[in-house]
Amino acid sequence: MDETVYLYKGEVFYFKDSPLKFDESYSYYPDGALVVYRGKIIEAGAYENIKERYPEALVTDYSGKLLMPGLIDSHIHYPQSEMIGMYGKQLLDWLNEYTYPTEEAFGDSEYAGRVARFFVNELFRNGTTTCMAYATVHKESVNALFSVASEYNMQMLTGKVLMNRNAPQSLMDTEESGEADSRELIEAWHKKGRNLYVITPRFSITSTHGQLISAARLHEEYPDTYIQTHLSENRNEIDSALELSPECSDYLEVYERAGLVTERSVFGHCIHLSDSECRRMAEAGAIIAHCPTSNLFLGSGLFDMQQANRINIQTTLATDVGAGTSFSLFRTMGESYKVQQLNGYPMSVFESLYKCTRGTAKALKLDDKIGSFDQGRDADFIVVDSTATPSQQMRKDYLERKGKWNLENKLFGIQTLGDDRNIVATYVAGNPVYQSDTCNHQKTGM
Ligand SMILES: [Zn+2]
Repeated sequence: MDETVYLYKGEVFYFKDSPLKFDESYSYYPDGALVVYRGKIIEAGAYENIKERYPEALVTDYSGKLLMPGLIDSHIHYPQSEMIGMYGKQLLDWLNEYTYPTEEAFGDSEYAGRVARFFVNELFRNGTTTCMAYATVHKESVNALFSVASEYNMQMLTGKVLMNRNAPQSLMDTEESGEADSRELIEAWHKKGRNLYVITPRFSITSTHGQLISAARLHEEYPDTYIQTHLSENRNEIDSALELSPECSDYLEVYERAGLVTERSVFGHCIHLSDSECRRMAEAGAIIAHCPTSNLFLGSGLFDMQQANRINIQTTLATDVGAGTSFSLFRTMGESYKVQQLNGYPMSVFESLYKCTRGTAKALKLDDKIGSFDQGRDADFIVVDSTATPSQQMRKDYLERKGKWNLENKLFGIQTLGDDRNIVATYVAGNPVYQSDTCNHQKTGM
């Protein structure tokens, strides 16, 4: 065990609570420090107040850069990494033309391992330290992703896709095999290190009622696992789901009847929900993963953040790669802002950033581990250069001249103009897992 105390100097920023509920929702120390010992956050605060207490610390100087908790992506498909940005049509065509043929390769462990390694490193390059990912129907795909995540001691949530109808034969399981394979993977991986299992029926179109019930039964058997699926992404999808379940009055009811709407269930998209569906989700404590780049790319529609906020549903941001067009949650925040602009809601950057950090951790009941710099949290953090490009630098110079280079303008610039270029370094459980080429910080003793 590494017994070194590490002190990182920089602009420390993290949320204490939701900016929707509190004015003073965050901590910000322009001359701040973050102290890490044995992979955990020991302290975050003003450098002047902290430095004397850790005379033995190894100091890394990131002055002028932001130190923030690692970003959390609540909905992403790792096997789709190589089919990002494929032209054509809407959800159901896109699944048939691109997604299913791509996912067929993941029964091969070596192939799955190669994509899993690319995927995890691409997350780190974009400042994402935790994700809730879909694998494929194959057990090998789950083994591959948990294996790579374990090498980095990364907080990973994933699970085997369940699909027993309306998909290519090569990608289908059965009610029995899907449940048996999921159980085997839960026993092998769930709560081993930082791995957490997610029971993953893709969506109701590709799972029979019997399979959805078997998924709920598994969750009852292992109540600290998660559930993820898709809900109300596209009009044709909603029509198909209701044709397959004519006894249901709306899409959410398909999942409710199976027992899948729980406080540990994450529903991707949720674009076309009625107020009744939103209220029922809120009562159940269910979680929305809003995926703006994907929704714009597939023309699925404009998610209504105000509706979700009004009804008090926990909402998180997510990339949804490969229908999403970027691994960067900064890009995702920027597109979310534009989607809400079209809904007449100029969402604050504090709201969008919260929904990629502490808000997501809280929704996933992981806020005692990730999403902030509270004492004892895992040291998953990122170093962000808010002026990584000439345009960002020029914008800063302008705002400084006007006396407006404040935290909100800085974060909003990262949201609107930022991406992987702004990530200087990414740390997972205290270990550096990514350093940009331009990263030339200085290590000094004190
Ligand atoms: Zn998805």
